Amino acid sequence: MTTQTSGRQSVHGTERLARPARCIIDIDGLDRLSREKRSQLERVTTRFPFRANDYYLGLIDWEDPHDPIRRLVVPGLSELDSFGLEDASDEASNTRLPGLQHKYADTALLLVTDQCAAFCRYCFRKRLFTAGGRETTPETSAGIQYIREHPEITDVLLTGGDALSLPTAHLEEIVEALRAVDHLHTIRLGSKILAYNPMRVLTDERLQVLLERTAASDKSLYLMCHFDHPREFTPVAREALELVQRLGVQCVNQSPITAGVNDDEQTLSELLQTCTDLGCPQYYIFQCRPTIGNASFAVPITRALSVITSARAHVSGLSRRARYCLSHASGKVEVVGMDADHIYAHYHRAKDPADEGRMLVYHRDDKATWLDDLIPADQ
Ligand code: SF4
Repeated sequence: MTTQTSGRQSVHGTERLARPARCIIDIDGLDRLSREKRSQLERVTTRFPFRANDYYLGLIDWEDPHDPIRRLVVPGLSELDSFGLEDASDEASNTRLPGLQHKYADTALLLVTDQCAAFCRYCFRKRLFTAGGRETTPETSAGIQYIREHPEITDVLLTGGDALSLPTAHLEEIVEALRAVDHLHTIRLGSKILAYNPMRVLTDERLQVLLERTAASDKSLYLMCHFDHPREFTPVAREALELVQRLGVQCVNQSPITAGVNDDEQTLSELLQTCTDLGCPQYYIFQCRPTIGNASFAVPITRALSVITSARAHVSGLSRRARYCLSHASGKVEVVGMDADHIYAHYHRAKDPADEGRMLVYHRDDKATWLDDLIPADQ
């Protein structure tokens, strides 16, 4: 078991006592599981690393073997089932430099870390944690130079991994360098920290100052939050979200629809409504990518669309803005409808500009979990 301590710090000038966050990276430290279970799961964690912390593990109902929070972070033997690809969206083909992806003309991704406050078991980039982070680099000068040389890029997403896992001083250097790029309009931070370790934001005054200064600059600053389940909105998570918003950061939420976590209409409608209530609207509901180890998280496309449609029926227009998309190698494909025979979709974002907005019609297949499983209607 490894421990990290955030300690006592101030919240943007206000003293508070922060409970130390204890990070666990050895499955054998998960003493709520039997010794036998832990030993079985070592087979999984030697392949797909485990990482969690006592705050998040404390949200689990250990009496419930199907608890959704448990499914999110506690490994399962089904991860060893043969399924999926390491890089299901072919991100390799968008990688221009180590740690820099450029798929859509206006948007660049900087993969700045291979760390997260905990590892989602369904992560679509778990290859980063197993491959030693070769696709990420905290050394961003070449990536930022690439962005400088591409005036069509107006939007940069710092991701990985979790952008807020970076030490604050390092994040500050990257953000300040990006602020100096005239043609950038938007800086986005991709992060599940408010769900996994909200104390990170509440206790780091230097981070708060950085967020506030950037949000007040000529760039828009967005925190791309990642709440998967309404139970992640604990009082401390709400406090951290409220603080970030007070600092001027615009917050939106995105999460995949995953089996046993949020693939029922009640959970999903509550997630959508809570996001709206807290001023952090859901922006995308993603289809879980067919990534290696993710067999048990996959929800068939037609079932996912039914659940999303039912969930939307319980919420007002403000909570219906999220687009149900597959992050496919060819672009973001939004699934918009189905009938007895067909599934209808269109390109919300296309890698090839010629595909922008193009409609897609497929034969209905209630087992299909990814676009490549579907047969176009004209075949
Ligand atoms: S927070 Fe994001 S990058 Fe980290 S494990 Fe979860 S899905 Fe993967």
